[in-house]
Parts: sequence; structure tokens; C-alpha cells
Amino acid sequence: MIKKIGVLTSGGDAPGMNAAIRAVVRAGISNDLEVYGIHDGYRGLYEGKIERLYRKSVSETINRGGTFLGTERLPEFKYREVREVGIENLHKHGIDALVCIGGDGTYRGALALTEMGISCIGIPGTIDNDVAGTDYTIGFDTALNTIVDAVDKLRDTSSSHRRCSLIEVMGRNCGALAINAGIAVGAELVITSETGYNEEEIIESICEAAKAKRHCIVIIAEKVTNVSELAKTITSRTPFQARASILGHIQRGGCPTPRDRVLASCMGVKAVEELLKGNGGVCICEVNNSLKAIKFEEALTMKKDQVTEKMKSFKELW
Ligand code: ATP
Repeated sequence: MIKKIGVLTSGGDAPGMNAAIRAVVRAGISNDLEVYGIHDGYRGLYEGKIERLYRKSVSETINRGGTFLGTERLPEFKYREVREVGIENLHKHGIDALVCIGGDGTYRGALALTEMGISCIGIPGTIDNDVAGTDYTIGFDTALNTIVDAVDKLRDTSSSHRRCSLIEVMGRNCGALAINAGIAVGAELVITSETGYNEEEIIESICEAAKAKRHCIVIIAEKVTNVSELAKTITSRTPFQARASILGHIQRGGCPTPRDRVLASCMGVKAVEELLKGNGGVCICEVNNSLKAIKFEEALTMKKDQVTEKMKSFKELW
């Protein structure tokens, strides 16, 4: 029987992580578990930064962005001897199970710990929505709202000055934020790693937009190209003056939306439920509006294409 559990956040921070920690703490305590917070992700686990959490410890956190436990990256966690030190630190406190909130990398760490005897449950916390198995990750909705708010503002100035606004959004290898933002703001063009990058086609589309519109909004996922260089090319080859804006880390911050708070809270409760049932090595997923737990191995090998189908709708809206 599990008596003591730990909770940590890892990878990039995401709004709603605090709500998930709060849910784990409160659901754990309601079920007579002792709950411990591990600061700064797997690095804190390695360094033994572990403290007992109480109901009060998570008061006034549900509305706060970021993660009050902190998060850091520790690439060395892939080495067994580093994880062994972390496990020793858990044993010192008598902790038998962990809830790990983060993205794919965090799940890989949690799977490795599970294989070494610590039952781990994953909760998907990342703004990119790039964790397979779940329809939504905690933080995605808030980040999308932040992007839409910023682009609406850029659109005003873009229309006034007859400009092309090129807006780089986060999402690394996953265009979910870009395509959803593109539809929500009525963008003229969305470019992601999934759509591919074809400069001639981009110039052609922007010239086409210039015939009918005073503005042109282009949403582009990070790492696809250098947006400042692309802005220069657009300015020289289309009727628009182009300006590039990189939204950067503002997308990671801010109060979580109600959608993210609810998702995080329900996933936190579900994670504790799974531990009480004796399950480990699983992650919590939202599928068609209901929560389920699937094996880490399954989630880590699933693919999730969120761009192709939405791109068809996007093109119909031009
Ligand atoms: P985000 O999507 O926000 O980047 P993430 O969880 O994918 O979140 P990563 O930096 O990839 O972020 O992973 C978080 C941490 O998980 C790493 O710093 C490392 O400590 C641990 N980790 C990643 N991959 C592995 C692995 N193969 N084995 C063990 N631990 C890992």
C-alpha cells in the first residue's frame, strides 16, 4: 500500500502546472497519503530538494502561472547512476510513488524510474500540445489565448499601416499552436514544420492577399525559418512592408484559463486515483472529454497530427 507520494514538474513550465500540483496534494491528503513536493524537476530529485506539502501549501496557487515547485532540465537523468541517487533520496523520505508533470522527456524519465521500482504517473504539462495519447495538454489553451490576444493587437497596427505581420509562435516540432491561432485570428497564412516551407508559395500567397486586403497576418511556428530574414524578403518582393514579431516566452506565462485549471485539477485527481489502484508507469490522457490512463510506452510511440485536417478548414476560410 502506498503511503507517501511525491510530485514534481519538469521540462518547460506551462500555465496550469500549479493547479495540477494542488490537485495531487489535496487528493492525496484526502486519501490519507503524505504528499511531498520535489523542487526543480529531476535535478531537485537528484539534489534531494524534497519538502512535505500540506493543504495550505497549495493555497492561492490555482490561478498562478508557472510552477511554484520550479522546473529545470537535467539531461544526465538518462544515466542510471543519476536516477539511482534520485531514488535514494526518495527512499530517505519513504516515498514510494511519484507524479511527474511535463512533456515527452519528462515521461521518458518517469518510465525509467518506474522500471527501477518507483511507480510513476505522468500528467501532460506543456504549452505545445505535443504529447501523444491526450487530446490536450495543460497550458495549451492558455498559450493559445495569449497568442490570439497578441495577434489581435498586431492586426490593428498591421491594417492601419498596410503591413504584413509575421508572427513566430512556439511549438518546435508541433504546429498545434500555430494552426489553431491561425484559424482563431483569421490569418492569411500558417507555416509549420508539418506544412513545410516553400518561399515562392509564401510570396505568391502574400501578393494575392495584397490585392484584396490592407493587412496580411502570417503565423509561423518557431524553428521553421529565420522570421527577420523572411520579413526582409516579403518587403522586397510583395506590396507589403513586413514586420516580424517573435512572441517568445510570454506564451508560457500568465494566469491559466479556466479550461486549463479544470483539466489540470481533474488530471491531478485521476493521477492519485491510479496510484491508489496500484497502477504505475502510466500517463493521464484526455480523450473525447474523458480521462484515461495509458502506458508510457504506448504514449511515447503514438503519433499525433493536429495540423493536416485543420489546415483543410483553414484554407476554406481564406
Ligand atoms: P517540454 O515539452 O516542455 O520541453 P519535456 O518534458 O519534453 O517538456 P525535456 O527537457 O525534454 O522536456 O525533458 C525534461 C527532463 O526529463 C529532462 O531534463 C531530463 O531530466 C528528463 N529526461 C528526458 N529524456 C529522458 C530520458 N530518455 N531518460 C531519462 N530522463 C529523461
